[in-house]
Amino acid sequence: MTYAPFDLTGKVALVTGGNRGIGLGMASAMAASNADIAIWGRKDAANAAAVEELSKLGTGNVKAWSVDVADEQAVIEATADTVSSMGRIDSCFANAGIGLGAPSFSEMTTEIWRKNMAVNMEGAFWTLRESVKHMVERAKNGDIGGSVVGVASLAGIEGAARNQAYSATKGGLTAMMRGIAVEHGRYGIRANSILPGWIATDMTDAAQNSDVFASKVISRVPIRRWGEPEDFGGMAVYLASDASKYHSGTTLIIDGGYSVF
Ligand code: NDP
Repeated sequence: MTYAPFDLTGKVALVTGGNRGIGLGMASAMAASNADIAIWGRKDAANAAAVEELSKLGTGNVKAWSVDVADEQAVIEATADTVSSMGRIDSCFANAGIGLGAPSFSEMTTEIWRKNMAVNMEGAFWTLRESVKHMVERAKNGDIGGSVVGVASLAGIEGAARNQAYSATKGGLTAMMRGIAVEHGRYGIRANSILPGWIATDMTDAAQNSDVFASKVISRVPIRRWGEPEDFGGMAVYLASDASKYHSGTTLIIDGGYSVF
């Protein structure tokens, strides 16, 4: 018998923030492995472009929903719509995020704090809670299994100057993932965090154009380059697949070796 766990035919993966950046990188690899893909993002044009791109990669069904994850009711309704349209959710990647910093910690406003919390912490909480609810219901009917993934950040475990609100959301997310893992293992549902390092996306646009950043930070990445969204494809396929069915409660760092140098 052939061992082919990375063929995701028949599995449905939900990726929030799947219309660009790291989310699109993960969705692309899973689409190429024939998963059915649901992406959520706020911008209709970006969603439509991503659906067109992803649809060419594999044999699965690809659909997008316009959802602001910072809106609890929108997340509840979009989860129900996704399940009813795609049939089920096997894996959920809570990836949508923003990174708002301040000139200094002392000048960080409550508004900046709350904006980061609204998308990265509450948005991830609602997204994960609704998908897990669906997976538990399924498990109680004899169909066990599921994978939920929180896309956090190295900022959640390292000191992030001028970005304490952002880093608090990411540290909180990894803690939440561990709690989800412990509570839901009995249903075959596993929960893990991915911690990206420095990745070339819209979020890091300013840093990518900074010579100081290139000489002081990117030069210290052992693999000697910015990470790319496609660098997250393999991990996404693995976590969406049955190959990871005993892998839960961990934080997976993808940073070109930056954090150990
Ligand atoms: P991008 O800015 O490139 O993309 C962000 C994605 O999130 C877009 O698809 C965007 O879609 C979506 N999004 C943002 N806000 C919302 C919202 N309120 N509701 C729904 N979707 C939303 O970011 P990255 O790809 O770089 O980041 C992805 C994740 O990785 C984030 O959680 C980020 O914190 C994390 N990360 C990134 C790092 C990096 O170096 N790039 C490093 C560490 C972690 P739309 O605009 O259409 O809503």
